[in-house]
Amino acid sequence: MGEFDETYLSDLSFSRPHVVILGAGASLASFPNGDKNGKKLPLMNDLIEVANLNEVLGNEYLGQNIEEVFTTLSQDKSKIEILQEVEKRIFNYFEDFELPDEPTIYDHLVLSLRGKDLIASFNWDPFLFKAAQRNCHVGEMPKIVFLHGNVAIGYCTTCPRFGEKNSVCSMCRKHYVDSDLLYPIGEKDYDRDPVTKSAWSVLRKSLSSTYILTIFGYRAPASDQKALDIFKEAWGPSTQRDLEEIEIIHRPNLSQEDKDKVREPWNALIHTHHYSSFGSIYDSLLMTYPRRSCESFWSMVMELKPREELEIPKKVSLEALQKWFKPIFVAEKKS
Ligand SMILES: [Zn+2]
Repeated sequence: MGEFDETYLSDLSFSRPHVVILGAGASLASFPNGDKNGKKLPLMNDLIEVANLNEVLGNEYLGQNIEEVFTTLSQDKSKIEILQEVEKRIFNYFEDFELPDEPTIYDHLVLSLRGKDLIASFNWDPFLFKAAQRNCHVGEMPKIVFLHGNVAIGYCTTCPRFGEKNSVCSMCRKHYVDSDLLYPIGEKDYDRDPVTKSAWSVLRKSLSSTYILTIFGYRAPASDQKALDIFKEAWGPSTQRDLEEIEIIHRPNLSQEDKDKVREPWNALIHTHHYSSFGSIYDSLLMTYPRRSCESFWSMVMELKPREELEIPKKVSLEALQKWFKPIFVAEKKS
């Protein structure tokens, strides 16, 4: 299981970030039995069915992939109203998700990163935001941005700032407006609203100085080519990234062929062998060295001083989980 020793606790030598990219697979892995009320997360190819979008679209679209439907309909100007209604229904569908009472992978994730670190999520669901919200009183949370919008957040049209949906801006006291969701069409406009624009700008800046990059459940689909281009540009040529590490978390028990496919979109970023892939987030540097991933990886590869791996307690209450992290939060506050 491992315990925090003094070296581990006091080593806060890195200011460079650990960046985590979250895709739909991360939410699926975190909520295999659905939300608090057993409501299941949809897939792109069953969203029309589970969110009853056929009531608006017509039954001929049942069973089709929402990305393809959106791409087709968005090219037809006469379908604007239908698309707006579909968007509203998708928003409402995702908005109702509630975190289970017991800790989830997302609780472990937000507790395992520091304020210098960043989670950039493509997901619309509210789970990550809510996990950060229920843990932020115990210690510093990582920065979080939503690359395709999110149902849990709203933004101020003046400042621009974002925060919990339905709250007021702490700068100008104006009511936040709901986040826009970016729909899965090929040409996404990342400058469409101020929150999305700022999310991409925060990600770009963090990627340029990232030491460890973890890609969790994000398959980099062809419809996200623009996103991949931004990653590549911000990361720079892999030849100049000879110290950094990239980790990919995919579904468990993949064949070597499937593992190669998962790696493919990221090949331009990976420097030679500075790459690993895991079927579980718990095997990543992120979770074996919570809140000290960069320091511990540096110690292992540059100083040849491997540290004992830690194991975040699972199947305990949220209170017990936060208590396990307490020594590390205390050490961070002292520094
Ligand atoms: Zn404001």
